[in-house]
Amino acid sequence: MSDATTHQEWVRRAHRLRPPDTHLIDGADEPGGGATFTVVSPRDGRVLAEVADAGTAEVDAAVAAARRAFDAGPWPRLAPAERGRVLLRIADLIEEHRAELALTVSLEMGKPVSDAYAIELRAAIATFRWYGQLADKVTDGAPHVAPDALALVTREPAGVVGAVVPWNFPLTLASWKIAPALAAGCTVVLKPSECSPLSALRLARIAADAGLPAGVLNVVAGDGPTAGRALGLHPGVDVLAFTGSTPVGRRFLHYAADSNLKRVWLELGGKSPNIILPDAPDLDRAAATAAWGIFFNQGEMCTAPSRLLVHRSVAEQVTEAVIRRARELRVGDPLDPATEMGALVSEAHLGRVLDHVTTGVDQGARLRTGGARLTTGTGSYLQPTVFDRVDPSMRLAREEIFGPVLSVLVFDDVAEAVELANATDYGLAAGLWTGDLSTAHRVSRALRAGTVWVNCYEEGDLTVPFGGRKQSGNGRDKSAHALEKYTELKTTWIQL
Ligand code: NAD
Repeated sequence: MSDATTHQEWVRRAHRLRPPDTHLIDGADEPGGGATFTVVSPRDGRVLAEVADAGTAEVDAAVAAARRAFDAGPWPRLAPAERGRVLLRIADLIEEHRAELALTVSLEMGKPVSDAYAIELRAAIATFRWYGQLADKVTDGAPHVAPDALALVTREPAGVVGAVVPWNFPLTLASWKIAPALAAGCTVVLKPSECSPLSALRLARIAADAGLPAGVLNVVAGDGPTAGRALGLHPGVDVLAFTGSTPVGRRFLHYAADSNLKRVWLELGGKSPNIILPDAPDLDRAAATAAWGIFFNQGEMCTAPSRLLVHRSVAEQVTEAVIRRARELRVGDPLDPATEMGALVSEAHLGRVLDHVTTGVDQGARLRTGGARLTTGTGSYLQPTVFDRVDPSMRLAREEIFGPVLSVLVFDDVAEAVELANATDYGLAAGLWTGDLSTAHRVSRALRAGTVWVNCYEEGDLTVPFGGRKQSGNGRDKSAHALEKYTELKTTWIQL
């Protein structure tokens, strides 16, 4: 398969696709006790698969397999370079199956297949490759030497990692947990979202084919309140790495407190501000990037710049440009390579986003474009939507919508922009557009966010850490910093 595939060819392949529908536990396909759940494509409402539904028994079996693989198996004891080689093989095999995986992602969660192929799969491949190459490059600190003693500081794998991830980047986000955990020598139980289990179940098979020993990576499909909760409460899990919404993140802290105080790492939601100052070097580019940022991936982005904060003097000019772009966007069948915005993940989610639109209108914001579902076809499609005259107290300005809905707020000076930007429970990301170097430094320092983009948005690289502050979470994915999540420092004093 190649990225030059046509619309008809993707559709033909979609009909032939047979993704795995059972858990992978201890290296074997595991159908579980017989319970299943239905995975429906938001593209057209078609049933994609009936997938094995994990209860506590399946989670127990997966954790027991990961525990055995960690306590007695070869993986944590392998030379780091050997672990690295397996991760590199996983990257190669994902690359070999790139089109099939892109198609699976697109069908299960609705993003354009061309984005899945070019962006999501590139990220997953790069992640396994990067941590594969990093595995043997992390060295411990120099020993502390005293006349009659020596203290060695060693970094050890933390144990069994439970990873619970959402559906918006099902493979990328799973890879951001799995690859560094495996590189560190941990074993993993992954629970993907019930909306997008198929690509993760396939990834588990690919990893096994690449030579990962049995039990090192287990994937259980199932819902949050049962399978996710069982993993969060499990005494056999040492580290819980979660990406998802803030309310569910809060639950994982409770699960840890109510069980074994496992370490919990949280990558949560956002309501990111994107500040455009009147001295921005190129207002057209700022507006185009603002539009791209909020509509990319159907707005289902934790970092989506959902609050556009514009200086009053350029507010109408920028808003008009964003609206033009919203109206030009090609929204439709994710399997059409020309599509720029696909379907929202589910009917339920579309309903929640539409509820935000209705409340926005009721609370007095002005709907400038969009706001309605697309009635063509049977899938869950929404028009790109822009509101202005949004007041900071409105729901539109405060709550994460996780859809293609932009709220425009106006400010009169830089101090007010910073105050508005920080007036949120979240602290994931922020954008800033200015031509003044000192303003760029001053404002980015004042913004309480894990990432600040100046005169750009959504730039990223595996070498650079990613994560949030405040109620957007803790810890960092990507980069060598991610290894801190999956390792423990040990100090060994030796009396000489
Ligand atoms: P979600 O929180 O509803 O679900 C995420 C995962 O948690 C899923 O696997 C789900 O099954 C599980 N879960 C749900 N309820 C649970 C419970 N009671 N106990 C245990 N597990 C439970 O989020 P979602 O709708 O899948 O994804 C959207 C959210 O993810 C948004 O808030 C978005 O901002 C966030 N997100 C954050 C990042 C980041 O890196 N900060 C990246 C992507 C998405």
